[in-house]
Amino acid sequence: MATSRPLLAGNWKMNGTRASLSEIAALRDAVAAGRTRGADVLICPPFTLVMAAADLCAGTGLMIGGQDCDAHPAGASTGDVSAEMLRDAGAGAVIVGHSERRAHRGDTDAVVRAKAEAAGRAGLMAILCVGETRAEHDRGETLRVIGRQIDDSVPPSASAAGLALAYEPVWAIGTGVVPSADDIATVHAFMRRRLRSLLGAEGGGVRLLYGGSVKPDNAAEVLAVEHVDGVLVGGASLKEAEFLAIAEARR
Ligand code: PEP
Repeated sequence: MATSRPLLAGNWKMNGTRASLSEIAALRDAVAAGRTRGADVLICPPFTLVMAAADLCAGTGLMIGGQDCDAHPAGASTGDVSAEMLRDAGAGAVIVGHSERRAHRGDTDAVVRAKAEAAGRAGLMAILCVGETRAEHDRGETLRVIGRQIDDSVPPSASAAGLALAYEPVWAIGTGVVPSADDIATVHAFMRRRLRSLLGAEGGGVRLLYGGSVKPDNAAEVLAVEHVDGVLVGGASLKEAEFLAIAEARR
């Protein structure tokens, strides 16, 4: 585990209805009771729940975020939501460049960069995701792919406070398969070097998250890896008890 304040982030993806707000309320109370031990905690529910969740958590230690944003502040873009709208709804962060959007919604590196810039403009922390596919991994291209994604999608104006970079190998998302601690450490050390050369001193302070099949039973090992400053959790963030168990697994 690195020395910065850890960030424990949950991505609910396309899951959750109003009834699920009880999970967020329970997590808010656990954070307030100190059970997440000095970590920053963030939940990104679907857009439909952002405002209600943010209202529930206003003034508490639990931050609410969006799962994506458009690059423009407003306009003729049916079905999209801007970073400014998320901010207005009470969000403090937004995920950009998730592999599901890169693969299925046409989010190229340039699009991801524009979205990260929009997040910065709106005062949101961008959780920017990078990660290689199984085929790229098997061809030994992991660092080349991550390097390209960082160079082309991290805004040169990004600050340490306004950005977290999440390494999410596509083949680890939702599969139950997690890279070895050594492999995560190698990628995270590479990301740190790359961010430093891109952003200078600010790059040294950007939090580096790992995401992909993080569960209560592997969280301690993942969070203990050098250069890992937190986690981005999908499926296991939906239930307060499971997400809290991940937070409490920190050594
Ligand atoms: C994710 O989708 O960002 C993710 C990490 O999913 P899971 O934890 O379910 O693998």
